[in-house]
Amino acid sequence: MKKLLLVLLLLLIVIFIGLVINTLLFPFAKIKKSDAQAFQPISNDSILSRLAGGIKIPSVSNGDPNLFVYAPFDTFKQYIAASYPLIHQQLEIYTVHSYGLVFKLKGSNSNLLPLLFLSHYDVVPPGSAEIKNKSEHVFRPSDKPLPPVSTIAEDWNYAPFSGAVADGRIYGRGTLDMKGMLFSLLEAMQKILLDKERPERDIYLAFGFDEEVGGELGASKIAADFKRKGLRFEAVYDEGGLILEKGSVKGIHSDVALIGCAEKGFLSLKVKVKGLGGHSSMPPSETAMGKAAVIMQRLEEQQMKPMISPLIQRFFQQIGGSMPFV
Ligand SMILES: [Zn+2]
Repeated sequence: MKKLLLVLLLLLIVIFIGLVINTLLFPFAKIKKSDAQAFQPISNDSILSRLAGGIKIPSVSNGDPNLFVYAPFDTFKQYIAASYPLIHQQLEIYTVHSYGLVFKLKGSNSNLLPLLFLSHYDVVPPGSAEIKNKSEHVFRPSDKPLPPVSTIAEDWNYAPFSGAVADGRIYGRGTLDMKGMLFSLLEAMQKILLDKERPERDIYLAFGFDEEVGGELGASKIAADFKRKGLRFEAVYDEGGLILEKGSVKGIHSDVALIGCAEKGFLSLKVKVKGLGGHSSMPPSETAMGKAAVIMQRLEEQQMKPMISPLIQRFFQQIGGSMPFV
């Protein structure tokens, strides 16, 4: 018995030493750390009000084409045209499938491949009982604690399409996903025009309107249009992760930007099973429910293989290199 314990202890020590050596030798990426705050709160009232105005438009997409209400999407198109007159004067603008919006700024060197920035202007429905303080990692102008969540309008601090600007935040559907990015892109574009800057590369902005329900009429048709025109891009930027404030990731003493480089796919299946009807006094040996359950179980048993893509691996190496030894 004593011998066995000793062997176990020895084994533990070996594992521990192995861990230490492995940690010391692991090829963590060397990165330059910056003390600069990655996220700077906006203090420009006109920028805020343009975004808040966009949040007010309830452009909720719907997976059922018969229930898709397009009126708010028309309103949204008019709203950005009115909000960014310079962009509408100076950029080439066209729509794909009526609501997919493409903006093109001509660069000075047409030999270079253009850049593409994506976003979408549909949002998910506001839901009924919703979100208890889920978004605390963004939009905090100071260190002062956020106000407590109230319970008006089904647990929203402010109504989902109010676009309320309060307590250092903008409230509403789409502020994060993805009108925030859409308006940031338009603001940046307007600034380029105001400053009379001319980038070398052509810059494209492309905004879909059904991302939350699959993007088949928006992003997919825009992509097909680009392909038809033989357009290729030097880089494509789409919605991704968040900028987590200092302290959000344990062991890292700076803001952390989570850059999404890949997205898991998904599969929706409709399973139809036929069986005999009957009475519970004489149940058949195999019911439709039972058959359906077997199908479910087999599906669950054959899941997609998980994998760590090279980019994700690099992410762990980077983040590990910024963490203390322990
Ligand atoms: Zn989105």
